[in-house]
Amino acid sequence: MIQHCIVQVVLDTPLDFYFDYRYPVEAENFPVPKIGMLVVVPFGRREEAGLIVDVKEESEIDENKLKDVVSVISEIPPLRTDWIDLCRFAAGYYQRPLGEVALPSIPKNIRANKKLALKRAVKALVQVPGNIVATNMEKPVLLKAQEQAVSAIVKTRGFKPFVLYGVTGSGKTEIYLQAIEEKLKQSDAMQVLIMVPEINLTPQLEVSVRSRFPGVTIATLHSRLTESERLKNWLQIHTGVARIVLGTRLAILASMPQLGLIVVDEEHDLSYKQQEGLRYSARDLAVWRANQLGIPVVLGSATPSLESWQHVLSGRYVKLELPERAVKDAVLPAIRLIDATREPLQNGFSPSLINAIKRRLEKSEQSLLFLNRRGYAPVITCEACGWISVCERCTAYMVYHKSHHLLRCHHCGLERPIPRVCPDCGNIDLQTLGRGTQRIEEGLAGYFPDARILRIDADSTRKKGSLEAALEMVHKGEIDIVIGTQMISKGHDFQNMTLVGVLNPDTALFSHDYRAGERLFSQLMQVAGRAGRGGVSEHGNRSEVLIQTRYPMHPLYQAALTHDYGNYVSDLLMERQNAGLPPFGFQVLLFAEARKVENALDFLRQAIDAIPEPEAVIINEPIPMAMMRIANVERAQLLIESTSRGRLQGMLKEWIPVLRNMKTGIRWHIEVDPMSI
Ligand code: ADP
Ligand code: ZN
Ligand code: ZN
Repeated sequence: MIQHCIVQVVLDTPLDFYFDYRYPVEAENFPVPKIGMLVVVPFGRREEAGLIVDVKEESEIDENKLKDVVSVISEIPPLRTDWIDLCRFAAGYYQRPLGEVALPSIPKNIRANKKLALKRAVKALVQVPGNIVATNMEKPVLLKAQEQAVSAIVKTRGFKPFVLYGVTGSGKTEIYLQAIEEKLKQSDAMQVLIMVPEINLTPQLEVSVRSRFPGVTIATLHSRLTESERLKNWLQIHTGVARIVLGTRLAILASMPQLGLIVVDEEHDLSYKQQEGLRYSARDLAVWRANQLGIPVVLGSATPSLESWQHVLSGRYVKLELPERAVKDAVLPAIRLIDATREPLQNGFSPSLINAIKRRLEKSEQSLLFLNRRGYAPVITCEACGWISVCERCTAYMVYHKSHHLLRCHHCGLERPIPRVCPDCGNIDLQTLGRGTQRIEEGLAGYFPDARILRIDADSTRKKGSLEAALEMVHKGEIDIVIGTQMISKGHDFQNMTLVGVLNPDTALFSHDYRAGERLFSQLMQVAGRAGRGGVSEHGNRSEVLIQTRYPMHPLYQAALTHDYGNYVSDLLMERQNAGLPPFGFQVLLFAEARKVENALDFLRQAIDAIPEPEAVIINEPIPMAMMRIANVERAQLLIESTSRGRLQGMLKEWIPVLRNMKTGIRWHIEVDPMSI
């Protein structure tokens, strides 16, 4: 008779349980069971991959009722307990079952136990031998502030979070590279993780890393990898072959057995917050993981998040500051505000901006026009009766896309032909309101018929490789004027760009979201950072950023004028403290979806009744979401706040299981530390 022991397994299911299975002892193809091993088990009518989280002699359940483990995915070395602990923390903190956190962060081909693919991938792992870190690449001699930063990072033993605060072009990337080099030299096995908001938008970092460390295995992790690339890269990382991991937010959940340093570039960026499933903040998990492993973590930004800034003020994080741009003479661009109430705009342009572009064209320098709104016009309307092109499925306008001759909803994707007459009153004179990038492109071509103009936004870069091709053209100087959305604002090092025009930033000043101002500021700094990176232009001019606004006296713009983030943040923090908002207060949002918003609101009211100790937290009124309907689903939200993270977490721990058991048929989810409310 075969002897059994019991393994406790988590699976990728919404059921928040650990499942017991029988595991044959000393049977062929069944190695000694260990925590962290991956197994295939029967679950319902299917077979599923599971992660062993405990091995025991007996189960609380009648063993005759237990099923047997089908097989072991033995090609994969077991996952380490520190990785399981990370998943367990993330699951607990963000209120998801452990299995739903752990399993999805393992490549599909492993979970599907594709023996052939696994064997091949494991065989292909090549350990790079010897003194791999040495590089004969030219590297710049560090400036004093850079040197101090590198040395502070690499001499750290144990956990320490650094906020690397430096304007765009101040040499943060160079610090990452040199700190990584030193770290890799400290131990033959050490791994480092560099996280970026969006690899596809910042291909230059990958290029720099690869050329700086030619002998080192570098593995990327992001959502656009094919399954076989993902398997290969993940395995390289999990087995320690890859010494440098370059990835987006999901990389923080990779198994990195020798992790010794984490870098989070542009740590303030919203992309670090996952917006579905496990709604985690990769930045926050990075700090947690660094703490768990006792290693340094570097949070780099020109406009650090208020959370990180406050930690600096309270002494929990260490600030490393780079006061100026690294390239000699590459001073920050001069920022000028153009008062659109005094200088009326035509076709979206002020005369000053048109003149500034003209001067660049005459000198063969490049200009960038930034407008965070794609399409031709945000809406078309009938002036006779007031009809507006709204989406029939969303609380949103249909955007006019002139080149495709259609109206498109940017929220649900619905497309409709452009009505020839007003659907309500028959008026044939429909007007477009407002401007998107396509209309700006058209207007600009009217002013500068000979200029080489390129629009870069989500519509113009749909085809794979088209973004890369567009950027290449800009770098090569084949383009005079770039019109772009936020896609173009990050990271790119355009050497000949001496003018940035910001077209219509004011809407963020009046957002319902209290973080909108902070975001606009960082966006302005980012986009301004695209100008003047190559040093003083041949013509000896300082680069310029022109911001067209109707509110030039707004404190946000006034702070932007002097690139003075520190001052602006102090004001913001004071406001937040007075209002009890993050980083001084803590928040969770419960979202509910239904056909009718009333039902969603009803559910939220029932949920409030189920809150244990309601007096321990601040419970707000449930409200319809600002964008209430998307694709015919109506949505409402409930905000719960507390001055204590611990109290909020304690409440959630009791509350969520109750919500799970409420049989209402309403779809809901919870978001801890929401980034927009
Ligand atoms: P950031 O990441 O802060 O935007 P980068 O690290 O990309 O800045 O540096 C901006 C530019 O300055 C790059 O072209 C980089 O090669 C250059 N640079 C960085 N450090 C130095 C240095 N110490 N001496 C000369 N050039 C430098
Ligand atoms: Zn009408
Ligand atoms: Zn829609």
